[in-house]
Amino acid sequence: MTPAAAGSPRRTRPGRMRRVRRVGQVRAAVAAWRSRGESVGFVPTMGAIHPGHLSLIERARGTDDRVVASIFVNPLQFGPGEDFRSYPRPVVRDRRMLAAAGTDLLWEPEVRDVYPPGDRTRVRVEGLSEGLEGASRPGHFEGVATVVLRLLHVVQPDTLWLGQKDAQQARILEQMVRDLHVPVRVRRAPTARESDGLARSSRNAYLDATQRAQAVALARGLAAARSALAGGEHSAERLRRAIRAVWRSFPAVREDYVAVVDADTLEPVTRVRGRVLVAVAARVGRARLIDNFEWRPA
Ligand code: AMP
Repeated sequence: MTPAAAGSPRRTRPGRMRRVRRVGQVRAAVAAWRSRGESVGFVPTMGAIHPGHLSLIERARGTDDRVVASIFVNPLQFGPGEDFRSYPRPVVRDRRMLAAAGTDLLWEPEVRDVYPPGDRTRVRVEGLSEGLEGASRPGHFEGVATVVLRLLHVVQPDTLWLGQKDAQQARILEQMVRDLHVPVRVRRAPTARESDGLARSSRNAYLDATQRAQAVALARGLAAARSALAGGEHSAERLRRAIRAVWRSFPAVREDYVAVVDADTLEPVTRVRGRVLVAVAARVGRARLIDNFEWRPA
């Protein structure tokens, strides 16, 4: 396995994306590349592809010879009453976008390909999964860790590409890979945003025009916290207040959480001393939106 140097052009030409469903087909395709000494980057997704996903594909093309993407709306990471059934599934458009971005292999498993009938194995990353998203979505990260470990076992990529948009998920998966000696390097890509700052998300599709205008509150609130930090603010409470002050002008935004946590442990901090994650979640209409940024004191 000889990953191309980051940023160097890959040796293979994109354009002919293969689509497969079964585990054996993925393994055979990857084995053929490996036998030629080609490295593999992997981008797992739930589909409803947007420029955030495509930025991961783009980065994967820069680090590895071949790019595998998966589309799997993982039932295990949705709680009762969440949007599993209504999650957008524009498959034809997704395939077109992923092919155009240079994906070599698109894996579209069915539930029984990932969870063989009678399956009993779950993965839980303790201590990182319970706060923030985990507090609002019990069992969510067990579902995420369980599916991503399965996908990794099948694809066995050199590089796993994840988005900073889901910072807690990235942190949990980094920990899982380390704890379980999974031979993959994990890379995070920055959050891709709309021109007004709204983080790209498949769930933005749930917003009507009025709600879309209000949804910018998440990025605006974070921008206020970022400038407070840049101005020397160290109090987590005052940072949270700065975000909520912005949100008061956006009545459709209903707070789920506004948090300042240690970027490694994800434990709340009262004062900003080291690297922190400022993370927010809110409901706008029927969409539940999240956003964050990481801050490292100078
Ligand atoms: P999802 O399809 O929502 O499960 O996301 C698949 C991957 O894309 C995850 O690693 C996400 O963190 C990443 N992702 C989603 N939205 C964005 C975004 N706006 N910018 C960068 N990465 C993203």
